[in-house]
Amino acid sequence: MSAVTDDCLFCKIVAGEIPATVVMSTDTTLAFRDINPQAPTHVVVVPRAHYPDAAALAAADPVLAAELLRTSAAVAEAEGIVESGYRLVFNTGRGAGQSVFHVHCHVIGGRPITWPPG
Ligand code: 5GP
Ligand code: ZN
Repeated sequence: MSAVTDDCLFCKIVAGEIPATVVMSTDTTLAFRDINPQAPTHVVVVPRAHYPDAAALAAADPVLAAELLRTSAAVAEAEGIVESGYRLVFNTGRGAGQSVFHVHCHVIGGRPITWPPG
């Protein structure tokens, strides 16, 4: 497991130091509503352990990476957006819009999701 970083927003949410609307919790992952939702369903799913992005997580702990995807899929089911379709997004790097450097999977749905992304 990577070291928890003191100044990481999502580590603080995992630790309960910053409040969030949690929708699912497992031993290794946590899912909570995005504070600035881009769709009717917009949930952020994080591993409890700190990794900066999806590539670092997959390289260091592929089992945890799979658990992150499994929780993301379970959130989509719980939100009732499987039939209508949803998008899983890992913004990776500032140029792609990553602003929090604790890996997180955006679960976005509840409206038509267009392609290509912006
Ligand atoms: P990124 O831009 O790194 O892909 O995604 C970070 C996400 O975290 C953004 O969608 C942003 O709205 C969300 N976010 C930022 N600060 C907070 C917060 O304090 N609480 C919650 N629930 N979401 C946050
Ligand atoms: Zn963190």
